[in-house]
Amino acid sequence: MSAVMAEGIRGRFAPSPTGFLHLGHAWVALLSWLQVRGSGGSWVLRVEDLDPDRSRDVYAEALREDLTWLGLDPDEGFGVGGLHAPYRQSERVDRYEAAFRALRERGEVYPCFCTRSRVREAERGAALAPHGPLTGCPGRCAERPERERRRLVAEGERPHWRYRVRRSRDEWEDGCRGHQSWERGEGNWDPILRRRDGTFGYMLAVVVDDGEMQITDVLRGDDLLTATPIQRDLFGTLGLPVPRYAHVPLLVDSAGRRLSKRHGALALRELRRSGVKPEAVIGRLAAWAGCVERPEPCRPGELIGLLDLAKVGRRWPGRIVVQER
Ligand code: GLU
Repeated sequence: MSAVMAEGIRGRFAPSPTGFLHLGHAWVALLSWLQVRGSGGSWVLRVEDLDPDRSRDVYAEALREDLTWLGLDPDEGFGVGGLHAPYRQSERVDRYEAAFRALRERGEVYPCFCTRSRVREAERGAALAPHGPLTGCPGRCAERPERERRRLVAEGERPHWRYRVRRSRDEWEDGCRGHQSWERGEGNWDPILRRRDGTFGYMLAVVVDDGEMQITDVLRGDDLLTATPIQRDLFGTLGLPVPRYAHVPLLVDSAGRRLSKRHGALALRELRRSGVKPEAVIGRLAAWAGCVERPEPCRPGELIGLLDLAKVGRRWPGRIVVQER
């Protein structure tokens, strides 16, 4: 690794191409871009398209265009290239395969035979049984003897593979929300790294990618805060450096629902079509972030150095409510 890379921070924006980017994506993208630009680092665009049923090429192509419209150009990533290409998860499956194989050889994953009905059965039993908190998986597959696993496979069952989370508690500093402490509780199942159909899960892909792409700073919506202790644990097990995290408040509608495809009017291309200027969008987001007093139109470059993530966390301890016009 060159000295330049070791010094600069590396952030990323990692949308799933399951719809057009909306204001909620623009919020996370702008804050992550500003965090990186404020310290002379690199901003990476990664497309998280592992779910073949929901991901569409048209959305992947469109997101580059929407980011360019906003003035948020990646230094590296999908559509740009770079040292860590490819930047689309569907083209990185060999990396997940290799990491999974290493974990399997070391006994860090175990086959889980829980089906939906078995989960229900186990959960009913758990409510009556005097065990401690239920972790692992609902059917306690981590504890199955090898001969029983072999029997189930011989009977034609295809297991999921779960990561055996090592830690039961963790503490870290979140760049936006401050000190975090986590204790494993009831129903915190071990994450599925590989599904029974052979596809890889989000937890494995995101950790392998953030690790290989040498991401130092993950900034994302705080709906993913609960994934962080699990990801930190998995980084350690894979021997990869753990990034810093900042979880920013989500933008929600007046009913408290996070912005999504159903808020079509807040899709960036819809705003653009209806004549809204990118500077107006950036100005509005910048005012929410506390970078400026009033939502005056501006370009992202004018905001460099003005972002204080801890202030975002203090100002918005919960959600930001967005009115649809
Ligand atoms: N692909 C995820 C999403 O669009 C983001 C994953 C992450 O930032 O870790 O919600």
